[in-house]
Amino acid sequence: MTPPPPPGAEPEKSAPEPEKSAPEPEKSAPGPEQHTPAPDTPAPDIPALEVRDLTVRFAGLTALDGVGFTVRPGTVHALIGPNGAGKSTCFNVLSGVYRATEGSVRLGPHELTALPPHRIADLGVGRIFQNLALPPRATVEDSLMLGRHRLTRTGFVAAGLRLPSAAREEARHRARVREIAAFVGLEPYLSRPAGSLPYGQQKLAELARALCMEPRLLLLDEPVAGMTADERRRTASVIAGVRDSLGISVLLVEHDMGLVMRLADSVTVLDFGRRIADGTPADVQNDPAVVRAYLGEESAA
Ligand code: ADP
Ligand code: MG
Repeated sequence: MTPPPPPGAEPEKSAPEPEKSAPEPEKSAPGPEQHTPAPDTPAPDIPALEVRDLTVRFAGLTALDGVGFTVRPGTVHALIGPNGAGKSTCFNVLSGVYRATEGSVRLGPHELTALPPHRIADLGVGRIFQNLALPPRATVEDSLMLGRHRLTRTGFVAAGLRLPSAAREEARHRARVREIAAFVGLEPYLSRPAGSLPYGQQKLAELARALCMEPRLLLLDEPVAGMTADERRRTASVIAGVRDSLGISVLLVEHDMGLVMRLADSVTVLDFGRRIADGTPADVQNDPAVVRAYLGEESAA
């Protein structure tokens, strides 16, 4: 089968000329416990994310203090640290929700700190939030289609007028949605209301929706929080697949140290808004400053 191209490579033409037929959906629905190999999409051009001297102050409080790290293309980079360390603040700056007080965030040639969230999303930065954000009544398929909006060319007018070009485009998007659902193991549930799925599957559906935006960098804020051990394993294997099969970079905030150590290629550790360690999982695990930061949190708890 011909896998659908990534968004950057989608046919530019919108003229109503005959097109090659829309790509076939994956042949067989995989069991929910196992995800199919990724559609072998040609590796999109994945840029590095470079965070330099990032400082964020809220009235009187320095949430991030001169933080820097680099997410290398196609790697899983974990951002860890005790509660209040500044991890979510960092995410919010990277996705344009918070403004940096100082410093820079570059994705390839683009400076992100001055851009609004939708422009950052357009550059291929996808995110899922700490709390569930799917419309509960919509089906899984429609929820994933929402993720395709950014990539829709014909737009609402053409779709509303039921132009053939819009119908073809929609068929293409639905095929891609089915492929991505198969990739995360949700294909059997496409017609179910998202809100009716168990929690872990809803989180996977959010991840799938983020993938539907064809991101080049995925920001995951505590993706396995609240999951059972089994759901954690599945999600970890999907995230590994996002890196290994899709070639997408992942910045991962996660409390589950076992998962971080197994999954991450590199780790940045924050404590009270400062970077206290950076390196391979093995490096940071044995770093005395990291041990102190975590033991301090535990003895305080
Ligand atoms: P983490 O995600 O590592 O637990 P956060 O980034 O959420 O930490 O928070 C870092 C610090 O910044 C905390 O002291 C938090 O209270 C503060 N903070 C986060 N967001 C805001 C905000 N919008 N206004 C004021 N303070 C904030
Ligand atoms: Mg947080």
